Amino acid sequence: MESLIHDPFDREHLWHPYTSTINPLPTYKVVSAEGVRIRLADGRELIDGMASWWCMIHGYNHPAINSAAISQLSKVSHVMFGGLTHEPAIELGKMLLEEAPPSMHNIFYADSGSVAIEVAMKMAVQAAVSRHGSHKRTNFITIRSGYHGDTWNAMSVCDPVTGMHGAFGPALPVRFFAPAPQTKPWEPWDDADFAPLEEMMRANASELAALILEPMVQGAGGMRFYHPEYLRRARALCDELGIYLIFDEIATGFWRTGRMFAWEHAGVEPDIMCIGKALTAGYMTMSAVLTTRGVADTISRGEAGVMMHGPTFMANPLACAIAAASLRLLRESRPAENVERIERILREEFAPAAALPGVREVRVFGAIGVIEMKEPVDVGEFQKECVSRGIWVRPFGRNVYVMPPYIISDDDLRTLSRRTIDCIRDL
Ligand SMILES: *Cc1c(COP(=O)(O)O)cnc(C)c1O
Repeated sequence: MESLIHDPFDREHLWHPYTSTINPLPTYKVVSAEGVRIRLADGRELIDGMASWWCMIHGYNHPAINSAAISQLSKVSHVMFGGLTHEPAIELGKMLLEEAPPSMHNIFYADSGSVAIEVAMKMAVQAAVSRHGSHKRTNFITIRSGYHGDTWNAMSVCDPVTGMHGAFGPALPVRFFAPAPQTKPWEPWDDADFAPLEEMMRANASELAALILEPMVQGAGGMRFYHPEYLRRARALCDELGIYLIFDEIATGFWRTGRMFAWEHAGVEPDIMCIGKALTAGYMTMSAVLTTRGVADTISRGEAGVMMHGPTFMANPLACAIAAASLRLLRESRPAENVERIERILREEFAPAAALPGVREVRVFGAIGVIEMKEPVDVGEFQKECVSRGIWVRPFGRNVYVMPPYIISDDDLRTLSRRTIDCIRDL
């Protein structure tokens, strides 16, 4: 029975995210999934609270997306994007520009969220070099508690404490880090919250190409929510100092925060924007970097004359067709109402957790519910509890959090929430 769900080959040979090969955490073998239910090899079913890390917004095994994938598969599943193009890339591009900030004009399709961040940072550097006519302004500034991915430059702008700076030390480029914003979206704005970033940006503007932020929600770096005024201040200061503003919407995009993209909460547009994760509804790995005509043309007027990046799987037709199908579905499925419903139920159901002894804070924003503990959670033990109760929730650090597929029913969401709290209580 045990070996059905804990595969010995897997344990011996396969690396999972952030695991030790000496003492790996258990992994549970999945045979299929449908809607919000993940089926394990021993027949048990789990209600999914993670949307497979923000991705599966329509749930698993969705007939409309399946059929878009199959239909594209029978035409062409991949073709190089150098010198060739195809309808799925064009259709998706049109749809994305309809949904993106109005100033977005050029789209760069990439392979994953982290690669999108690399591309965005390269765009900012190329544009800054072209704009200022020198290589002086090529560094980046960000805020603490951020997460931007696992590749080299993405790591360099992740939180220096919860991120990977310790492990890589001097191998990483040194960035500027301002304290994380403290004012929550629902609290009255406090001007003092922006002062440290402002001071640091003014003092180092002559070195800075861009400020990179996850708008409104800091994801894996701390599951923190902050005030939209912070973004407005950031935009104004970037304009004043000639610094590009990059929004990493890889986690926040596609209605997770109650808007199509999180910038809408603040009404300020970035110069460069990264999207990924839910872009393909969790079916394929793909991301995109969007930018203004100004940035794109500045790059093209620069020394290289072109954007210096071109991944093998750029604009993969299968991924584009799936993303387009997901966007169509999203338009038909009243995501705003759905996310509002999830937010309301999570608020109700998570509220009692605030009174538990080990809990530091409970917070909900959009379809994201967080129970922050006082101490780091033992992931292996916690997940054992979850699986035995028929739910799938994977804590990180001190945070136990859920961000379910939008299609989750009220009943399943209440069950998921209550059982999550039971796991915390019994730990
Ligand atoms: C997940 C994530 C990334 C990295 O995406 P990958 O597809 O895992 O490379 C970057 N930024 C944010 C905000 C993310 O949540």
